Amino acid sequence: MTLSIPFDNSYARLPEQLFSRQDPTEVGAPKFIAFNAGLADQLGISGYEDNGELARVFAGNEVPKGADPIAQLYAAHQFGQWNPQLGDGRAILLGEVDAKMGRRDIQLKGSGPTPYSRNGDGRAWLGPVLREYVVSEAMHALGIPTTRALAAMETGESVLRETVLPGAVITRVASSHMRVGTFQVMSARRDTEGLTALYEYAVDRHYPSAKDPLEFLKAVMDAQAALIAKWMSVGFIHGVMNTDNCAISGETIDYGPCAFMDEFDPMQVYSSIDRRGRYAYGNQPDIIVWNMAQLATALVPLMPDMDEAIQLFTQAVHSMPDVIQSYWTQAFGAKLGLSIPDANDVELINGLLKIMAAQKADFTNTFRTLSADNARDQFTNPLEFDAWAEGWKQRIEREPSATETMNAANPWVIPRNHQIEAMIQSAVSGDYAKFHEMNALLATPYTEQPDAVAYTRPPAEAERVQATFCGT
Ligand code: AMP
Ligand code: MG
Repeated sequence: MTLSIPFDNSYARLPEQLFSRQDPTEVGAPKFIAFNAGLADQLGISGYEDNGELARVFAGNEVPKGADPIAQLYAAHQFGQWNPQLGDGRAILLGEVDAKMGRRDIQLKGSGPTPYSRNGDGRAWLGPVLREYVVSEAMHALGIPTTRALAAMETGESVLRETVLPGAVITRVASSHMRVGTFQVMSARRDTEGLTALYEYAVDRHYPSAKDPLEFLKAVMDAQAALIAKWMSVGFIHGVMNTDNCAISGETIDYGPCAFMDEFDPMQVYSSIDRRGRYAYGNQPDIIVWNMAQLATALVPLMPDMDEAIQLFTQAVHSMPDVIQSYWTQAFGAKLGLSIPDANDVELINGLLKIMAAQKADFTNTFRTLSADNARDQFTNPLEFDAWAEGWKQRIEREPSATETMNAANPWVIPRNHQIEAMIQSAVSGDYAKFHEMNALLATPYTEQPDAVAYTRPPAEAERVQATFCGT
């Protein structure tokens, strides 16, 4: 049987200023690493038994039947600076499938240059490909909206970064790849035809009940508010929340120097390119509001009256922090076993976070061990924790299913940085056992898996990862 993907491409039918037709560039020696059969089944993909064929298709050497490969145009604010033209510099959208779970994009990343590559080589090296595969699938298993990983293949070619590294291609699946920056580019070019077409397409694809640009903006803000609260609740730091890495769908997208925190530090930054900490853990709720303000600005030309649009959009953006706060309270309340947290509970949550920060407690393990009643072991001065826990225990007396609530909100295992680095190290030397082991383990992150307890341990001093590199 040969590979069959039921493509049904719609983005490629939009006005052509939104993208460029571009085939992937052939690579020297495609080699199979991984294929996500469970996801493929959900997408209606069949005939995927031949790893050789999969390697050829998902390394970009064979364009599958029905694909209509394009690179999408976008712009962005990068670290607050306007960049009028970016676009998929190393990604190619093969096409879409209209699956049971909804329409999904299938996109190769690292598949060669495009008209938007600027000085880049259009390639990716193995490390970021494997990191994205493991972390995006882990995020999905954690219940956090995200792009998914369908495949990872070696190219058999090397790429030059700080050193010479093995090349690879990841295939990602997203409910779409429209970004804040996609709207920005049309708006900045005063291309009303393009902007209107994009807006109508996005409404139809993601928010069909939105009746006007204001409702659309509010729907995107709501999805993003919910997303950021979820990131915060698992200690996730995206690392590059530029407006091109901010999806209209509300999915986590563009896994670069992302990381999960070990010890809790509200201002934690891992990305080596984020020198001023713009995208630090604790800044994420503010930055998403900033990004939504950029989306609002881009949508203004779609409104009949500019002054009125600015007034309405400003109001909407100003209301976003409260929306985030309410999702945040819900998410962190659940971590303490509270089914319907109220305003008083915010103080309780912050009380714990304050002690965790002061004592550098491990984020994941502290929350997870609350339900087993041994979280005090995570603190160097447990008496402070005990004092907090007294009030907490009183509060959860009113919660009949506190334990279940906590164990469904506090993962037992997350993809820790030092484990990801070790996994990449062994893959570079040709051993993918740890990559597969991590994928299997992280598929059920809320379940205790006693054989894998090593993955729940914070890094020893020597294992500690100081910085993650954009390392594209
Ligand atoms: P990122 O910050 O990874 O989202 O990337 C920002 C922009 O740089 C996007 O337009 C990417 O397509 C582009 N880019 C990143 N790496 C490369 C590369 N190796 N070759 C070409 N373009 C790239
Ligand atoms: Mg990006």
